[in-house]
Amino acid sequence: MTAVDEALARAWIAAAAEAVRAEAEHLTDLDAAIGDGDHGVNLRRGFDAVTAALGTYTADSAGDVLGKTGTTLLSKVGGASGPLYGTVFRALGKTLRQGGTFAEGLQAALDGVRQLGKAEVGDKTIVDALAPAVAAYAAAVADGEEIATRAAAEAAQTGAASTIPLQARKGRASYLGERSVGHPDPGATSTALILVALADVTARATGR
Ligand code: ADP
Ligand code: MG
Repeated sequence: MTAVDEALARAWIAAAAEAVRAEAEHLTDLDAAIGDGDHGVNLRRGFDAVTAALGTYTADSAGDVLGKTGTTLLSKVGGASGPLYGTVFRALGKTLRQGGTFAEGLQAALDGVRQLGKAEVGDKTIVDALAPAVAAYAAAVADGEEIATRAAAEAAQTGAASTIPLQARKGRASYLGERSVGHPDPGATSTALILVALADVTARATGR
């Protein structure tokens, strides 16, 4: 049985869109400090487009829903984060459509982001939240979806917080050099939001 079915995938994306809307200003403020101040605006535009696209999309599976999310983000979100988040959801969708597990999908998402952005843990990017989340999910998946998604969300939040003292080595923030130190990375922060949304809808679906 696929742990993430179509209904849960739709609920996840709806919750992620809601979280992005609620936090758009905060994400944009974070990006104003070490980038160009558009991360929240970029993601909100992307998730609004995803919400519209999924509203009229007749999917057969979670893989379809997540793949559609990825292609929509890819085409609607500008900047560095559009292709990166597009890659995350397209890799998840592709893996599930091919019969892979959600854990394998998360690993494929991380591999795709690394391949595209060439960032490693410690470079102050999305990878700082995503890599520990993927590892935490894999380590906890035997305990069930609810525990695994919560472990992933918490690891992403810890990972996002861990970017504060780091100097950015990738993306726009790297142009600031040492001045990027002391601020959380916007993309790591949004990754944590999206994974908290997954943990929340999973907990709800499991009836807690
Ligand atoms: P832009 O930097 O083009 O304005 P956004 O503001 O939407 O795009 O996104 C910025 C975020 O993208 C950063 O906070 C960082 O997390 C992420 N990012 C930038 N470059 C990379 C990269 N090479 N690999 C992974 N994440 C990256
Ligand atoms: Mg930006």
